[in-house]
Amino acid sequence: MIIRSAPEIWEAALGQLQLEVSKANFHTWLNKTCGQNYQDGKFVVGVPNTFIAEYLGRNQHSLIEKVLTDVLREPVKVEFSVANNTEKTLPGRTNLPLFNPRYTFDTFVVGNSNNLAYAAAAKIVENPGLAFNPLFLYGGAGLGKTHLLHAIGNRAVANHLAVLYVSAEQYTNELVTAIREKTTDEFRKKFRTVDILMVDDVQFFAGKEQTEENFFYTFNELHSNNRQIVLASDQSPKSIPMLKERLRSRLEWGLVADLQSPDFETRLGILQLKAERDGVDINPDVLEFIALQIKENIRALEGSLNRVVAYSKLLRTMVTPEIAARALEDIVGKEPQLAIVTPNLVTEAVAGTFQLTLSDLRGKRRDEATVFARHLCMYLIRQETDCSLSEIGKEFGDRSSSTVSYAFGKISDAINNDPLLKRQIFNIQQRIHSTRARN
Ligand code: ADP
Ligand code: MG
Repeated sequence: MIIRSAPEIWEAALGQLQLEVSKANFHTWLNKTCGQNYQDGKFVVGVPNTFIAEYLGRNQHSLIEKVLTDVLREPVKVEFSVANNTEKTLPGRTNLPLFNPRYTFDTFVVGNSNNLAYAAAAKIVENPGLAFNPLFLYGGAGLGKTHLLHAIGNRAVANHLAVLYVSAEQYTNELVTAIREKTTDEFRKKFRTVDILMVDDVQFFAGKEQTEENFFYTFNELHSNNRQIVLASDQSPKSIPMLKERLRSRLEWGLVADLQSPDFETRLGILQLKAERDGVDINPDVLEFIALQIKENIRALEGSLNRVVAYSKLLRTMVTPEIAARALEDIVGKEPQLAIVTPNLVTEAVAGTFQLTLSDLRGKRRDEATVFARHLCMYLIRQETDCSLSEIGKEFGDRSSSTVSYAFGKISDAINNDPLLKRQIFNIQQRIHSTRARN
C-alpha cells in the first residue's frame, strides 16, 4: 500500500504509537492530533492546544520521529503546530486558554515544602475574593507554581467561574497591541470582569512602567469588586527589583505563600505518581535512587525519570539503580554511590540516627538496640563502600568476616520483611550522601 497524504501517514503512525505508549498517555496526548502536512522530510502534527504541543515536544518527540520514520521509511523531522479549528476558544468567551488537564490538585503531591501554597490555592477556589486577596505564590523554577495556578483554573472552570490565566508577558503584549490598535476598552473589559484573574511570572512587570501602572489599575478594580487575584513569581514581592512601592505593597495585602525545594518523601511521591500515571513499570529502588540524587527542582526530577525510562528502553533492559546512575551520569556525576563514601561516614550516620556514639558501635556493648545498629552499620558499609568483609570486621574491633557476613544476611532479610526498616535505611543513606555532598 502506498501512503500519501499527511492524514493517512499520521493514521498509520497513530496505530503504531498506540502500541508504544500507555492507554492513558495516548488518550490524553495523542487522541486529538492530526496529520497536517508532510513536505521535504518535515512532518507537521496538528494538536489542539499549546500544552499538548509542549508536552509532546518535550516528552515524545523522538518516539514520534522514530515511528514516522518507520512508517515512511525515510528520516523525518517532526513539528507540532496548534490547529486552528480545535478547542482554541470556549463557548461565550474568546481567548480563554484551556488549563492543562494534567495540572490538578489531585496530581499535586503535598509536603512540607509546599503545603501552605497548596492549601491556600484550594481555599481560594472555594471562596474566590473572600479568603485572601491577592494570593501571591513564589518559589524557584520548577517547584509547582504554574501547576497550582492551572489546578485553580481547572477547578474554577468546573465550578463555572469566569477565570482568566495569563503570563505577565502575555498581559504586556496584549496591552501593547490594545494601545496600538486602540482597543483598550476591550482589553480593560477582558481583564476586569472575571471572577478570578491569575497572572504568572509577575516579576516580568518589574521595570516596565506602563504595564505596571496599567496592572495596578486592573488590580485595584478587581480587588475593590471582591474579584480574586492570584499571582505567581520566582521571588517574593519584597525582592522583585524595580517594582514600584504602591504595587509592591498591594501584592502583600493578602497571603504570600512560598514553595520550597521538596524533601525526600515528596520527591519520591512525585516520582511514584508520575510513573503510575505514565504506566511505567519501574523498580521502587530506582525511584528512590532518583529521588536521592535530584533535589532542587521538580521539573528536573520528572525529566530524570523520563530519561532513565528512555535509556532502559534503548538498552531493552530492566531499570536497576546502576542503569539509572548511568543514564543520569552527567547530572549526578560519575559513580554517584561509590568511591567517596568511607566506613567512618557510614558509622557516623548510623550513630547519629540511633543516638549512639562511635565507640558504642565499634565496642563491645551487647544490648539489642546497639547490636542491631552495629549490624546495620556493617550492612551499609558493605553496600556503600568497596570494603571487603574482613576490612569491615576490622572497623568493629577485629570482628571476623563471618560475623560481618552474618550481619549482612540478617539485615537483608529484615529489609525484605519490613518496609519501615527499608525506609529508615534510605533515610540513613540520604544522610550519608548529603553529608558527602557538603564535603
Ligand atoms: P514553576 O511554575 O514553579 O516553575 P511548574 O508548576 O511548571 O513549576 O512545575 C514543573 C513541573 O513539576 C510540572 O510538570 C509540575 O507538574 C511538576 N510539579 C511541581 N510540583 C509538583 C508537585 N507538588 N506534585 C506533582 N508535580 C509537581
Ligand atoms: Mg511557571
